[in-house]
Amino acid sequence: MAILDVQGVCKDFGGLRALNQVNLQVREGSVHAIIGPNGAGKSTLLNCFVGRLKPDTGSVTFNGKSLLGINPHEINQAGVARVFQTPEIFADLSLIENVKIPAFAKRDGAFRLDLWSRTDSHAEVRDHAEAVLEDVGLADKRHMHAGSLSRGDKRRLELAMCLVQDPKLLLLDEPTAGMSRADTNATIDLLQRIGERGITKIVIEHDMTVVFTLAHTISVMAQGAVIAEGEPEAIKGNPRVQEAYLGG
Ligand code: ADP
Ligand code: MG
Repeated sequence: MAILDVQGVCKDFGGLRALNQVNLQVREGSVHAIIGPNGAGKSTLLNCFVGRLKPDTGSVTFNGKSLLGINPHEINQAGVARVFQTPEIFADLSLIENVKIPAFAKRDGAFRLDLWSRTDSHAEVRDHAEAVLEDVGLADKRHMHAGSLSRGDKRRLELAMCLVQDPKLLLLDEPTAGMSRADTNATIDLLQRIGERGITKIVIEHDMTVVFTLAHTISVMAQGAVIAEGEPEAIKGNPRVQEAYLGG
């Protein structure tokens, strides 16, 4: 059964058709990869799922409810969390404070920047935040400033900020971009471990090792449209996919 159902989504930027009749069905509990050349519309599509962009036409349904016409915070509360192409963290705060912000937002239903520093009666939030940092391998750095982390660790922190919200659907836009091979492999391991908890994931990714290790289903985009979709083995041998990459 599809946890996310996308039908006929179009999005124009001026004269440019960034998304052209996109259909996508993401199976609950699966890892669904979206691949395709730069400019294919992958990030634009994710932005339509989280309320950053509004499609011109089409529908986006999550768990049977439309995600269109509700704001990003409500989408987040519904169980959709995302890691952006450029990490969005609070550089001047410690790791633990960074993770506490979305933890409070989830608990209280409101995003309030002043809450991170309140340690008094929030032991359960702090414990949860610490457990998630442990999960992503950042426990020993929890008192460092987030701004001083390496690129790979910033991505791990952002993932922790998503996981602390116990999402049902996790959207990852190029989670290994700019990472060393070792960091990429560590990210694969981490995403596999998260997979065991049954969180559905959509992963936009250029690294084919990551894609073929993690994905159950792959959708290939080119010029705003999904040009192929299927299991990894079928996608590997698809001539249209080869052509889109070589000709793209
Ligand atoms: P991808 O993530 O697959 O590399 P994008 O979704 O970022 O591709 O972009 C798809 C197309 O839409 C590109 O041609 C890009 O330049 C254009 N685009 C993306 N966002 C905007 C925007 N906010 N305004 C105008 N054009 C945009
Ligand atoms: Mg992109």
